[in-house]
Amino acid sequence: MGLMDGKVAVIFGVANKRSIAWGITQALADHGAKLALNYQNERMEDGVRKLVADLPQPAYVAPCDVTVPGQTESYFAGIAKEFGHVDALVHCIAFARREELGGQFVNTSWEGYAIAQQVSAYSLVEMCRHAAPLMEGREAGVVTLSYYGAEKVVPNYNVMGVAKAALESSVRYLANDLGPRGVRVNAISAGPIKTLSAMGVSDFSSLHQSMAEKAPLRRNVTQEDVGNTALFLLSHLSRGITGQVIYVDSGYSILGA
Ligand code: NAD
Repeated sequence: MGLMDGKVAVIFGVANKRSIAWGITQALADHGAKLALNYQNERMEDGVRKLVADLPQPAYVAPCDVTVPGQTESYFAGIAKEFGHVDALVHCIAFARREELGGQFVNTSWEGYAIAQQVSAYSLVEMCRHAAPLMEGREAGVVTLSYYGAEKVVPNYNVMGVAKAALESSVRYLANDLGPRGVRVNAISAGPIKTLSAMGVSDFSSLHQSMAEKAPLRRNVTQEDVGNTALFLLSHLSRGITGQVIYVDSGYSILGA
């Protein structure tokens, strides 16, 4: 018996096989979920379609760039038509301009600040607004991805740290709004994983290496570690948990100096 047998899971953020969203997709697929994914633009469509072709069951795939007005709403209209309801929503997207992910945070431009907030934090609010009527009364779950740079200064993470702080706060407000409708909202704060987005952060490799050296478990986390925690947070096993940020970081965040 799979933990997600027959449940509909909508996953945003698969770009390639290294994406954290792909680790989550595989965990949910292994547990019987019916899957719906997005691709950000035409350039990414082929890659996403090729990946999902290897899944044990066919997946619904449609475009959604959260910066294109009306596209998130249209995406969920497509989901309503295809499935009629949603049991799990995975928000695994973020963006900041490369020039804002290095040097000093004080030099962040308004445009750079705004786009990071729109894609990395506000998009969760918009997705929840469109998904909520489809999740109503189903003991549904929402999971988003954060990082330690939301709460502590991490070199070069800059504008993304501020966006993740907004994201984590949004998780709490959304959990309070949607709880009475039977929807839980949680975040996973993941340790560094080598993905396309992560490589955009200046000197990411040093961060990745030092985490494995210092973290209590003395290793980096994997897509699979995050995927399994997302599965837990989206399944009935976590039905008493909402509004939380759960660390999947080999324990790094408990350290003092
Ligand atoms: P990734 O590059 O594989 O995924 C990022 C995704 O964001 C891509 O699928 C991309 O298409 C999507 N995206 C960007 N702009 C978008 C837009 N305008 N509309 C729709 N989608 C858009 O990288 P990842 O590391 O798997 O990132 C997934 C999430 O995990 C992000 O929120 C990231 O901040 C978070 N995270 C990553 C790490 C890490 O070290 N990799 C650690 C903690 C948290």
